[in-house]
Amino acid sequence: MHHDCPICFEFLFESRQNVTVLPCGHTIHTNCLKEMRDHFQYACPLCSKSVCDMSKVWEKFDEEIAATPMPQQYQNKMVRNRLDPLQRLRDKISSSVSCPGSEMPELQVIQY
Ligand SMILES: [Zn+2]
Ligand SMILES: [Zn+2]
Repeated sequence: MHHDCPICFEFLFESRQNVTVLPCGHTIHTNCLKEMRDHFQYACPLCSKSVCDMSKVWEKFDEEIAATPMPQQYQNKMVRNRLDPLQRLRDKISSSVSCPGSEMPELQVIQY
């Protein structure tokens, strides 16, 4: 734990935030890991190893893409509803993958 968080570069040894140890052995703030996952970043920033079992994630992506053809009229509504598919996908992924520090952050509801 004697190195910096790869996300925010705070010295982990002195940090009072929760720290998660990744499967590769690198350490990272639990909150910074959540931030990464929030941006669909599932690899260790230091060594690029997966921080969780990626095969399930890609399986879910494939299922979701196969189950969601994009009809023409739907594309016109993309701007207004563009968060919905992403949020549903994120819900599915978070429920199918177990990662260290894996509770997903609250989704932000953005009003248009
Ligand atoms: Zn951090
Ligand atoms: Zn690593």
